[in-house]
Amino acid sequence: MPRYLLLSDIHANLTALDAVLAAAKGRWDTAVCLGDVVGYGPDPNEVVDRIVAMGVRTIRGNHDKAGSGVEDSEDFNPIARAAVEWTQHQLRPENLTWLRELPAGPLLEDGLAFVHGALGDEDEYVFTIEGAARSLREATLPLTFFGHTHVQGGFMMRNGRVEGFRPSIAPGLGFVPMELDPDARYLINPGSIGQPRDGDPRAAFVLADPDRQHIEFWRVPYDIEAVQKRMEEAGLPEPLVLRLAFGR
Ligand code: ZN
Repeated sequence: MPRYLLLSDIHANLTALDAVLAAAKGRWDTAVCLGDVVGYGPDPNEVVDRIVAMGVRTIRGNHDKAGSGVEDSEDFNPIARAAVEWTQHQLRPENLTWLRELPAGPLLEDGLAFVHGALGDEDEYVFTIEGAARSLREATLPLTFFGHTHVQGGFMMRNGRVEGFRPSIAPGLGFVPMELDPDARYLINPGSIGQPRDGDPRAAFVLADPDRQHIEFWRVPYDIEAVQKRMEEAGLPEPLVLRLAFGR
């Protein structure tokens, strides 16, 4: 089985994506993106171009649907909606088409499942033990990767009991390894590259080696101020600019 690079919630942040790709270089064989390629950030075309050029298999997120007009942005708050509208105007026609044609999850391969939100609903946020338990009971495969919440970590079910876990990664560049229990089922969230919301502003991703039952939760610093400057120049809403520095 290949070693996987898991990318999620890049949100049009090219500086963060490039920092992740540099840190992950040489450590993976195949990459999957769990959706929300665009939305919020200042680089929608550049990020789509990078993902397309790398041939990353990608499933759609809610911002990909809204940003490309597959769905309207009625459910979005006014700030997120402003970013959706800005994104729609920026995207080149071929990138709009690429986003529109992204498949919904789950993507299944190598005995792994990949979703944006949850197995049964691509737009569901899995934040709680109860929500995770529902998804884990629905799961037919031991390992599901999900995104959408922008919180790195996940949930495991062993002997019918579900618990959550959140890695804590030292300052600077680094990762926390996790060995999988073959008798457990897991939901694993690589965290958000472009707009983390778990209190750590560094870009988040996961490397997974399913043959070795080995997962690594990574955090990578990047030039947040450079991204904030591009967002300001683009006229994107200030709360979206500010939150990058806090990771909230
Ligand atoms: Zn997202």
